[in-house]
Amino acid sequence: MAGHAKALVVNRNWCKGCRICVAFCPQDVLELDGEEKVVIARIGDCAYCGLCELRCPDLAILLQPIDSPIVADGAAEPRHEIFTV
Ligand code: SF4
Ligand code: SF4
Repeated sequence: MAGHAKALVVNRNWCKGCRICVAFCPQDVLELDGEEKVVIARIGDCAYCGLCELRCPDLAILLQPIDSPIVADGAAEPRHEIFTV
């Protein structure tokens, strides 16, 4: 089955620490750090459902398709990235 991997991407500069994504994540993946910015604390538990992206009012967390080959069993390889602009 064809597919693309997805990356969970956080833009720390746009995060205002409102905790909406933390509250809505069904997998308890996200936390706020000491600077009140979201961090991906448990990427291994992420279901890549996109709820965090949907709920964030500041576009600070995004689920993006990435061009990388899928693994042999067809499952997309999970990735996450944190960047600052
Ligand atoms: S994609 Fe879904 S499971 Fe992953 S961090 Fe966002 S809300 Fe949580
Ligand atoms: S919903 Fe957006 S602005 Fe609020 S804590 Fe999460 S990433 Fe930051």
